[in-house]
Amino acid sequence: RAFNFCAGPAALPQAVLERAQQELVDFRGSGLSLMEMSHRSDEVVAMATKAEQDLRDLMSVPDNYKVLFLQGGASTQFAMVPLNLASIHGQADYVNTGQWSIKAIKEAGKYCNVNVVATGEDNRFTSVPAFESWSVSGNADYLHYTPNETIGGVEFDFIPEVETDLVVDLSSTILSRPLDVSRFGLIYAGAQKNIGPAGITVVIVREDLLGKAMPATPTMLDYKVHGDNDSMYNTPPTFAWYLSGLVFEWLKEQGGVAAMAKLNKAKADKLYQYIDGSGFYTNPVAVNNRSWMNVPFTLAEDALDKAFLQEAGQRQLLNLKGHRTVGGMRASLYNAVPMEAVDALIEFMQDFVKRRG
Ligand code: PLP
Repeated sequence: RAFNFCAGPAALPQAVLERAQQELVDFRGSGLSLMEMSHRSDEVVAMATKAEQDLRDLMSVPDNYKVLFLQGGASTQFAMVPLNLASIHGQADYVNTGQWSIKAIKEAGKYCNVNVVATGEDNRFTSVPAFESWSVSGNADYLHYTPNETIGGVEFDFIPEVETDLVVDLSSTILSRPLDVSRFGLIYAGAQKNIGPAGITVVIVREDLLGKAMPATPTMLDYKVHGDNDSMYNTPPTFAWYLSGLVFEWLKEQGGVAAMAKLNKAKADKLYQYIDGSGFYTNPVAVNNRSWMNVPFTLAEDALDKAFLQEAGQRQLLNLKGHRTVGGMRASLYNAVPMEAVDALIEFMQDFVKRRG
């Protein structure tokens, strides 16, 4: 198969796809495909329960947190977070580190007062604003930030110490390394990067934050409703949940998030090191904020972009085009992207410079 550098939906482990293929028509001797089964059947409930437990194990989720499997992508969380958590003071703090932060801020502004505590706009979002420069409100119901901006490739190298609850959009870094869940009030992540296929969203929320939604909150957007119903208030995306569960099992087999962190750091270090020494490719991000997951880079001449992508495609190095709003290239190096993919990419980049540089 080709190497897939897509930012999302992203590469899935080959072993997971093969296992799903084997089980697709007859799920574990049941005579049905999992897709055809009631979400209330014993088989599906067992699958769902195991997936949740495996995720809890992988992330060492404390017992006083609910783990929810929802729909609507991370984008729905941009609304769900303020609807559920900003009902006390009607005030929320947001850090603006790029395009996903901006979307979250815009959506939250519909439901509460938003204070942007810091913005990386002045340096075109190439670094995370220093914590000392933040102007945090005294009465915010929570502080929201985006630990990794998938488009800009900018990553936090610290967890802020604030009085209020931290809420994070962990879509592009979840499961890429160990994380102390107890530092956060709420974590959310769209699945289609490090978890599984698109169509499911993981929310990890401390239980005392449930049950405080604004009165007009739609039932389907109330975390408590989903928590009370084990994420089965309505028909959940059972197949995406199942595939996510297979990815969790695969991750455990690989040695869990500690092993992933080692590999992910090595992959990113190798690519940045090559880019920095190449004299042809450039990554604009401050060194301590460079993302392990998404590596944007430009070529010395934009005019060569088309040829680069075309030739990469011929070598089965796919989805390297940068986000449409920023151009250039982006190599996403999520858990399922092996070191061999990075080696093959660097070899191609070297060869491209020799011929076209
Ligand atoms: N937040 C981040 C950091 C993302 O990378 C993405 C998608 O790429 C989103 C939010 C939006 O996710 P979804 O498409 O699941 O709504």
